Amino acid sequence: MAYSYDDTNIFARILRGEIPCSKVLETEHALAFNDIAPQAPHHVLVIPKGAYVNYDDFASNATDAEIIGFNRAIGEVIAQLNAAPGDGGLGYRLVANTGEAGVQDVPHLHVHILGGRVLGRMLPAAQ
Ligand code: 5GP
Repeated sequence: MAYSYDDTNIFARILRGEIPCSKVLETEHALAFNDIAPQAPHHVLVIPKGAYVNYDDFASNATDAEIIGFNRAIGEVIAQLNAAPGDGGLGYRLVANTGEAGVQDVPHLHVHILGGRVLGRMLPAAQ
């Protein structure tokens, strides 16, 4: 699938430095920052630096280096948060809301890392 990318979206503006963010990590291929409206004690957004609308765009069209770099950045943030259960952390949840069904607000791929408390079941009961 080829998506058109709207480079006026808020995360594109953060990447260009036009809007500030509370930076958690920056690498060659990824930027991580705290969500402006946190829904858990830990709520970090990780975005690729490339212009990808969502996860399937990224998985299909990003270079191997971008895919590795993005995933390594997610791992680094989880380590920074001391959230990995194998290291005694409480655990965490990764979310990538996509499109209408996923209720995606910002059309630049972002993975939410949520944690710091028990988050409850993933979805409310089916309606
Ligand atoms: P979505 O619904 O697209 O998965 O999530 C977008 C997220 O971006 C929301 O959790 C929202 O709070 C966050 N967000 C929106 N605008 C900004 C901003 O200007 N700065 C930061 N740090 N987060 C933002």
